[in-house]
Amino acid sequence: MPLLPLTGHAETRRRLAEAVRSGRLPQVLVVSGPPGVGKQRLALWLAQLVFCERQEPDPCGTCRGCRLVDGLAHADLHWFVPVPRPKASDPDKAVDEAAQAIAEVMEERRSSPLYGPADGMASHSMASVRLLQRRASLTSVEGGRRVFILGNAERLVPQESSQEAANALLKLLEEPPAGSLFVLTTVDPRRLLPTIRSRAVPVRLGRLSDDLVRGFLAAHTSPVLAPEALEQRVALAAGSIGQALAAGDESARAYRAADQLLDAVLAGPAAGYERALRQPPFSARGEFTAMLDALADTLGEAARGALGQATRRPVPAALLGRGDPALLLRALQRVTEARDAAYGNVNPQILLAVLGEELAAVL
Ligand SMILES: [Zn+2]
Repeated sequence: MPLLPLTGHAETRRRLAEAVRSGRLPQVLVVSGPPGVGKQRLALWLAQLVFCERQEPDPCGTCRGCRLVDGLAHADLHWFVPVPRPKASDPDKAVDEAAQAIAEVMEERRSSPLYGPADGMASHSMASVRLLQRRASLTSVEGGRRVFILGNAERLVPQESSQEAANALLKLLEEPPAGSLFVLTTVDPRRLLPTIRSRAVPVRLGRLSDDLVRGFLAAHTSPVLAPEALEQRVALAAGSIGQALAAGDESARAYRAADQLLDAVLAGPAAGYERALRQPPFSARGEFTAMLDALADTLGEAARGALGQATRRPVPAALLGRGDPALLLRALQRVTEARDAAYGNVNPQILLAVLGEELAAVL
């Protein structure tokens, strides 16, 4: 699956494209900005621009260079991502292990180009930096430039405060091999060694407009979001596509929890009551109210379906089988009341048990 298009950052792109076309692009860049605004995607876009055979302001997307980057298959594009620290104590074996771990991540990204935040324990260990040094010392495979992307560059200084990896990288950035481009991305440039920062030209990315986030979600989420759900996601995103996608996961979890509760209720009052109590505790109030919202939405959809209208998303068949829209609307009313109560200082488990009983009585 090809990369999804880079969204936004028009002015930055224009400046970078101008620099590439006039041969003034610095060899070391640090791209910074909030999580999920497309820092690594911008780095990939830049790689595409550098490898593109046409001299246009944007990568053409169709030449060999563009297509190879699109498939994350360009031999002169080296994308380094944080991976678990290699276990091997032998340095060469550790480098092989890091290479393998990075290759596995790339394989995943080829099949599914959207990804979440890096795992908390993953880092750019000394082995990854050695791998980077090794690759940087080779010549270009395609005979042109080479691009090295280091995502989440703040992970260069791992937990045990060893600066070995960062210092090794520093040596490389002090004298980058001819024709090579290094793009480091980070949420916070202050977390990079000052010596690394001083070698790099900063590129700062801001948050995206709601319109851009909306456009991205409308074009790239499946199944297609209903208008209210879309607006909710745009609001939660706060200008970050990464955040919008993460909110999608949360919302999917909320709908799953709501469906589980409905299943329990429809299985009969006694079973419903018992199962509602056995629901995993909601760790955060937000998670609980999100489940109630999902529950309300599902009941509303079922009422719509029962009235013979088209539903915007699939509704549990058992619920549609209830048939009577009035009952479904009464259930919806109970959920809305629980939603109001959830804002007060009420224990979610007890509220859920009571709601389960009420729903069982109505449905
Ligand atoms: Zn091209």
